[in-house]
Amino acid sequence: MNKSYELGEHVPIPKHVEVCAECGGELVAIINAIEKATGRPVGSEVEIDCENHWRLLDGGHRYWQSDWQPVRDAVEKYLGAER
Ligand SMILES: [Zn+2]
Repeated sequence: MNKSYELGEHVPIPKHVEVCAECGGELVAIINAIEKATGRPVGSEVEIDCENHWRLLDGGHRYWQSDWQPVRDAVEKYLGAER
């Protein structure tokens, strides 16, 4: 049973699902597109941000795909996103 999301919704990701690949901080997923037919988020359009990156604005996060791919996979699965 998938929860439905609003376009542009900021979804806090529970720590037991996944945390920031770089600092272990809490994550927020931003739903930038929704598949019309199913109402599920579009995986490639899910933006994942670390709360510490926003708060500190220290530029310390590189968001390298090699670091973040497992995080992205877990978050998209949690959201029930279309892959
Ligand atoms: Zn972080």
